[in-house]
Amino acid sequence: MSEGTVDVDETDGALLGLCEYCGELKVLDQLGRCSTPEVEGSPVHCYSCGEPSEFSSSQARKGSHARCDACIAARRTQRFKPFEQLARHGEPASLLQAVEEINEELVMTLLEEGIEVDQVRQRKVRADSTGLIWRPVYSSDGRPVPEEDPYQPTTPLKMVVFRLSDCMLDEAARMRLVKIAQALLEHGAPRESARLLFESRYGPPEPEPGDEMNAYTHLYTLLSA
Ligand SMILES: [Zn+2]
Ligand SMILES: [Zn+2]
Repeated sequence: MSEGTVDVDETDGALLGLCEYCGELKVLDQLGRCSTPEVEGSPVHCYSCGEPSEFSSSQARKGSHARCDACIAARRTQRFKPFEQLARHGEPASLLQAVEEINEELVMTLLEEGIEVDQVRQRKVRADSTGLIWRPVYSSDGRPVPEEDPYQPTTPLKMVVFRLSDCMLDEAARMRLVKIAQALLEHGAPRESARLLFESRYGPPEPEPGDEMNAYTHLYTLLSA
């Protein structure tokens, strides 16, 4: 689990999370209590999968708790959570993810499309009482709270630094990371926070005269320019 996250009781209590049922922002300890909306007339959506459905008369009598044939057959009884993905994972961070996956092609495409080059990862806090252990949080004005931790890969360029030391990577993959870093910098990514992360993780590289440049020295050169 990420070291950049904190327990919810360390916060000022003003943080909001997204309700997985109704999609509204609520203070963290109010989450998970959203009651089932009552439907007027016949139910339209299945309680367990959310799909529009026609119901048998015995199911229809259950109102908003009516379930479709497929869910009954599969013995699904849980309530459908239309906002579960967003409530658990927060705002999509596609550039950060593309860098994490070392998907050079996607990084270039996203940059050409004008994506925010310094996309910051959304902060998550532990919120055990809700049943979802970690929750991405929002401030009272409804904006995602950025994670600010100098030692975590919270931005695309810091992710490059972080991924470089993955022992499963070969030098070709590490050089793809260097190319990604170059593209991020050309699009205005701030280098200082990434250089500090590099130095805290690896120390400044000290190549001997005659050493060949490797991915580490290449990247550090870019970050120190
Ligand atoms: Zn709700
Ligand atoms: Zn269903």
